[in-house]
This record gives sequence, C-alpha cells and structure tokens, in this order.
Amino acid sequence: MAYQSINPYTNELLKTYPDATDADLEAALSDAHQLYKTWRNDDPASRAPYLKKVAVLLREQKTELATIMTKEMGKLLTEAEGEVDLCANIVDYYADHGADLLKPVPLKTDAGKAYYAKQATGVIFAVEPWNFPLYQIVRVFAPNFMVGNPMILKHASNIPGSADAFDKLVQKAGAPKGSFKNLFVNYDQVSKAIADPRVTGVALTGSERGGSSVAKAAGENLKKSSMELGGNDAFIILDDADFDLVHKVAPQARLYNAGQVCTSSKRFIVMADHYDDFLEHLKAGFAAVKPGDPLAKETTLAPLCTKNAKEKLTKQVQAAIDGGAKVYYGNEPIDLPGQFFPPTILTNITKDNPIYNQELFGPVAAVYKVNSEEEAIALANDSSYGLGGSVFSADPEHANRVAEQIETGMSFINSGWLSLPELPFGGVKNSGYGRELSDLGLNAFVNEHLVINT
Ligand code: NDP
Repeated sequence: MAYQSINPYTNELLKTYPDATDADLEAALSDAHQLYKTWRNDDPASRAPYLKKVAVLLREQKTELATIMTKEMGKLLTEAEGEVDLCANIVDYYADHGADLLKPVPLKTDAGKAYYAKQATGVIFAVEPWNFPLYQIVRVFAPNFMVGNPMILKHASNIPGSADAFDKLVQKAGAPKGSFKNLFVNYDQVSKAIADPRVTGVALTGSERGGSSVAKAAGENLKKSSMELGGNDAFIILDDADFDLVHKVAPQARLYNAGQVCTSSKRFIVMADHYDDFLEHLKAGFAAVKPGDPLAKETTLAPLCTKNAKEKLTKQVQAAIDGGAKVYYGNEPIDLPGQFFPPTILTNITKDNPIYNQELFGPVAAVYKVNSEEEAIALANDSSYGLGGSVFSADPEHANRVAEQIETGMSFINSGWLSLPELPFGGVKNSGYGRELSDLGLNAFVNEHLVINT
C-alpha cells in the first residue's frame, strides 16, 4: 500500500489507496489504445466539448479540489485555489485553440504539393510529482486530449486523493472511456507500461533521479519522452533594477508553495553595492510570513509536503553550514507539529559548498554577492541545472540582453516565475528536455506526417 494521503500539517493519515494490479494496468492500456484507434481519424474539434466540460467542473469544484490538495500536501488553500483556476484556463485554452494549432502545415517544395498532418501517435504515459497535484496532470492531459493521445497517469504516491479526484472529474465530464486513467502503479509497472507497444510517449516531471530512470526505460524502448526536472534558478538583480519591485517580488519568488517549485528563485545574485540592502529587505519579507494551518486565510507559510522532504532539506542546510555557509536569517525550528521549515537565508556559499550545485526544495534562499554583470552571468550559468531564472533591470533591453546569456529554458524579466497555457515550459541541461504547454507542448507527441503529391 504505497499510496497514502498524510496531512503534513496535522501528520494524520487520511487515507490509504489500493495498489493497481497488473490486470488494472492491462485494462487501462487496452481501453486507451482502443480509443486512440478511433480518435486518430476524428476531427480534433470534436474533442473540444469534453475539455470545455472539464474546465466547467474544475471551476465548480474549486474549493473541494483545493481542499484535497491542501490536506494532502500542505499548500496554502489560497494557492491551491489559484492552481485550480490555472488548470481550468489551461484546459479551456486547448479546447479553444487546439484544433487550429493542429491544422496541417503546407510545405514549400518544387517536387509537388506537400504538407504535414499533425496526427496522434498513441497512449501517453505520464509520471508526475506532488508539488502542483492538478496542474502537473493538466499540462500533459489537455494538449494530448486534443491531439487524440489518451493518457495514463502515475502520480506521486503522497497525493493519491488529488489524482483520484481528477480521474473522477474527467469521468463526470463524460470524456470517452480510455481518454484518461489514473493508476496507483509501482515502479515495475511503470517500466512495464513504458515497454508496452501501445504506449508511444512518456512524460515525466520530477527529480533528476526519477527522470533519468524513466528516461532510460523510454530510451531502451525507443519511446519519445519529455523530462521536466529540477532547477536552481537565479534571480539576478542588475545595478539599474527597480529596487522597490525587487524587494516586493523576491520573498514571494522564493516562498510560494513553501519554496517547493521547480522554477522558484533559489539563488539571488546581487551587485556588491546593493547586497546589504537587499539582504535586509529579503529578511523583512521572510520574517513577515505566518506559519499555521494552510486551510486558514491568515496563514502565509505552508508546511513542506512530507516528513521526508523536511528531513532532506534539514540535512542539506546543515551540510551547507558545515561547509562554511553563514545563516543570515532563520533556520530556527518552528514550534508547530506539522512539517514546517523556517524561511532561511544563507550567504557565504563558496563553490566547494555541498549546496552550491544542489536544488533546495523549500523556503531557503542562497544569496550571492558579485562585482560585475559578467560575474553575475557566469555565476548563474555555473550550474548543472538550466530551468528558469529572473533578471531585474529598469531597462527592458538591458534585461533581455542579460537574460539571453543565461543557459536556461525560461527567463522572467522583472518578475518571479510564471506559467500560462500559451507559453512553453521546460528547461535545458539537467533540468530536462522537451517543452510542455503552448504549441510546443501540443506538438510534443504528435506524428508530423509528411504527405507529398508529385
Ligand atoms: P521524484 O522524481 O521522486 O518523483 C516524481 C514522480 O516520479 C513521482 O510520481 C514518483 O513516484 C515518480 N518516480 C520517481 N522515480 C521513479 C522511477 N524510478 N520509476 C517510476 N516512477 C518514478 O521527484 P520529487 O518527489 O522529489 O519531486 C520534486 C522534484 O520535481 C523536484 O526536483 C522538482 O524540481 C521537480 N519538479 C520539476 C518541475 C518542472 O516542471 N521542471 C515542476 C515541479 C517539480 P513516487 O511518488 O511513487 O516515488
């Protein structure tokens, strides 16, 4: 019984879910494949009404869904409600634009009349993490539903209630049997599914460890895959930044979702002249948060998702301190029973410090002092990760020039991270490959089928 909901605020075991059997997996594969064979010849527009209904139900069930997420992984209810809204917007976007984005693309050639059709390929197997229980599902589900690729989900073992709720919602929307199925499978069953010829694409969001293992299985079976992995995103503050804006955005960019966001700002890179002032403001922002019951409106700091997550972060911060980092603020235990980690600011992190090239998945900021823009860029790029990052400058062209020199998949100018249905999401280096959302995400598991008539 690996799938359990445990409330990280109260530490109460809420529910244990039964493991999927091999027969469950076979039934899901069979239903999904049967549907694919029909769907591949249907007009994508015929699928849009189901997605519209999913969006309606998401909005109708917002409080209920948000409460499940909050109870299961601890995020603030207000943030959970925002996540449901975003999911509804994503689903609507693909319902409204999917068919257009999937139109055949004419090709210029002297050899004849040519185009490529964008066709479904088969069943997509998705492995997803707990930090945005619904958003992570929807990023794969909505575009692939329009393409005609049914989806089977293996969600994180600590959020089975969210996975189950989404499965029921899709059924309630009347979506065809096989279009989406959540399964409480184990790692062996994931490998078995990936090896199955009916599965043609594999999408994972998660850690490097999980990603490399699932990507290996996909590679061995010659299946296309996309990997959305961790990040150690830089927040670069240039000399000409609007500092009022910087001071307002920086704490939120680190503390949202208790810091458990792959694109959270994790490394703050500040010019020497502004370093002390920035630290004072960041400290004030961190000191202002109120830990407490994530269901309560007044709470502004949520617990981490699990006991293991807290233990891992505690070890990482201790290793950083043992390696010479200074605690500028925080690292004092929060006197509450839940899995809280105190907002913490670390400085004096040298290149040989264990956390220099580690992702800290929680409310811990690493702040670096630099003497030039070149040094800021070099430091931002001195990472095995390459997901996102922010650049602050009151001169947008200056900010863009710097952003383009950062080796990441996404740059946010004068803001923390964001995700919108129409914008691509993904990284480079050990942050993974492929993109989700936008037309790029829609095309991730499409067969670009060349047709030429000479
Ligand atoms: P994990 O990789 O441990 O888990 C993510 C998912 O992968 C879970 O469903 C997990 O299942 C599954 N999984 C892990 N290993 C295997 C395996 N060998 N075979 C099959 N399935 C496997 O990640 P974390 O729980 O640590 O999640 C947080 C990570 O995700 C962070 O590093 C974060 O940066 C990254 N992330 C990346 C995002 C992006 O878009 N780039 C967005 C959000 C998070 P189970 O729970 O059963 O172990």
